[in-house]
Amino acid sequence: MTERLEVDVCVVGAGPVGGALACRLAGAGVATAIVDRAALPPMEHPDFDGRAYAIAAGSRAVMQASGLWDRLPIAPGPITGIRVSDGKVGRPASRLFLHFDAAEVGDAPFGWMVEARSLRMALNAHMAALPGLHVFAPANASVQRQADGALVQVQGGPLVAARLVVAAEGRRSALRGQAGIPVTHLPYHQTGIVCCIAHEAAHNGIALEHFLPGGPFAQLPMAATDAAPNISAIVWTERTRMAERIMQLDEAAFMRELGRRMGDHLGALRLLGRRWSYPLSAMLVHRYTATRLALVGDAAHGIHPIAGQGLNLGFRDIGTLADMVIAATRAGEDPGGPALLRRYQAARRPDNMMMLAATDALDRLFSNDIAPVRLARDLGIAAVHRIGPLKRMFMRSAMGALAG
Ligand SMILES: Cc1cc2nc3c(=O)[nH]c(=O)nc-3n(C[C@H](O)[C@H](O)[C@H](O)COP(=O)(O)OP(=O)(O)OC[C@H]3O[C@@H](n4cnc5c(N)ncnc54)[C@H](O)[C@@H]3O)c2cc1C
Repeated sequence: MTERLEVDVCVVGAGPVGGALACRLAGAGVATAIVDRAALPPMEHPDFDGRAYAIAAGSRAVMQASGLWDRLPIAPGPITGIRVSDGKVGRPASRLFLHFDAAEVGDAPFGWMVEARSLRMALNAHMAALPGLHVFAPANASVQRQADGALVQVQGGPLVAARLVVAAEGRRSALRGQAGIPVTHLPYHQTGIVCCIAHEAAHNGIALEHFLPGGPFAQLPMAATDAAPNISAIVWTERTRMAERIMQLDEAAFMRELGRRMGDHLGALRLLGRRWSYPLSAMLVHRYTATRLALVGDAAHGIHPIAGQGLNLGFRDIGTLADMVIAATRAGEDPGGPALLRRYQAARRPDNMMMLAATDALDRLFSNDIAPVRLARDLGIAAVHRIGPLKRMFMRSAMGALAG
C-alpha cells in the first residue's frame, strides 16, 4: 500500500525559489514537502549553471529568513557602485555616463553578487538538515487539486496530501499548463552570453552596464576566490544570430570580442571556466493562482535580465507567500484557501508586471542604434548626471528596485 504523508504545503520544483520557500516554511514549523524531477547534488557542479545573481537587500532578507545566507560557501561580493553608459562596440563607454555610488545615499551596498553554484550548495545543505522538510528528488509527481485539498503522488514515494501546492518548476511550469492558465510570450530574439573572467585591475565593487546596439553588456563584481583575486561575472546580450557566432569563436577570439565591448579599464582579461548561453524572452502569466495552487518565481513571470531582477522577483513572491502561509497555519486557518490565494495574487502580480514593463522598455530603448533615439537617451543620461537631486532620486529608485 502507498504510504500517505500529510503536509500543509507541497512545493514542486526545488530551484532557488522553490527551495528557499520550502526552507523558510519548514524552518517556521509549517509541515512541508518538496519534489524535484532532477537530482539535486549534480546541480552543485561548476558546469551546471554559470549564472551569478545580483541579490537585492530584500532578497538577502528572504535568504536570511530561509537560513540560506549564512550557509553560502562562497562569500557574496558587495556592489558598491554602478556605472551606466551608452556606446558602440569597440568604443563601449561614451563620454556620457552615469555613475551611481551607494555611499551617496546610505551605508548599504546596492546589492551582492552570489554565484548560482554557491546558492545551490547552501540550498542542498540546508534542505538536508531541516528535520521537518520532506525532500523527494529525483522524482516525478502527479498532482490532483480539489476545493478541499490536493493530492501529490510522488513516483516511487508517498502520496502527499497538502492544503496548498506551489508551482516552482521554472518557465515551463507543467502545473501552470495543467491549470489552464494563459501565458503571453514576448520574444526578444536576443541571447544572454554568461561567463566569468579574471582581470588585472581591481573592480572595487563597481558594476558596469554598457548599453550597446545588440543589447546590454554587464560586468558584475565578484568576491575574490582561490582562482584569482580580481573576478567579475559577465552577462552579455546579443541578437541571437550574432550570439551564436560569438559562442563558436575560439577562446582568444571570444576574449577579444568581450574586450571590445567591455573596454580596457580593468587591464588584461582571462576567461575562467566555460561560457554559457541563454535564449531571452519575457513571459506574462495571466493568473498566479488556481484551486489549491500558487505560482512563484519563473513559473509566474519571465523578464529580460537587463536589470538582473528575475530571481529577486521570485524571492519577493516567496517572502510574501511564506508570511501569509505561516500566519494562516499559526492561526489555525487554511493556508491554501481562496482568500489567501487572492491576497497573494493581489500582492505580487502588479509589482512583477511593473518590472516586466520597465525591463522591456529599457531593452527596447537601448538595444538599437537609431540616431534620434541615441541622441535622446544621451541627453537624458547627461541631464541626470549633471543635476544632483535628479541623480540621487535615480539612485534611490535603483536601490529601491534592488532593495525591494
Ligand atoms: C542570462 C541570465 C542572467 C540572469 N541574471 C540574474 C540576476 O543577476 N539576478 C536575478 O535576480 N535573476 C537573474 N536571472 C533570472 C534567474 O536566473 C531566474 O529568475 C531564476 O533562476 C528562477 O528560479 P526558479 O527557482 O523560479 O526556477 P528554476 O531555476 O528554473 O528552477 C526550477 C526547478 O524546477 C525543477 N522542475 C522543472 N520541471 C519540473 C517538474 N515537472 N517537476 C518537478 N520539478 C521540476 C527543475 O529541475 C528546477 O530545479 C538571470 C537569467 C538569465 C537567463
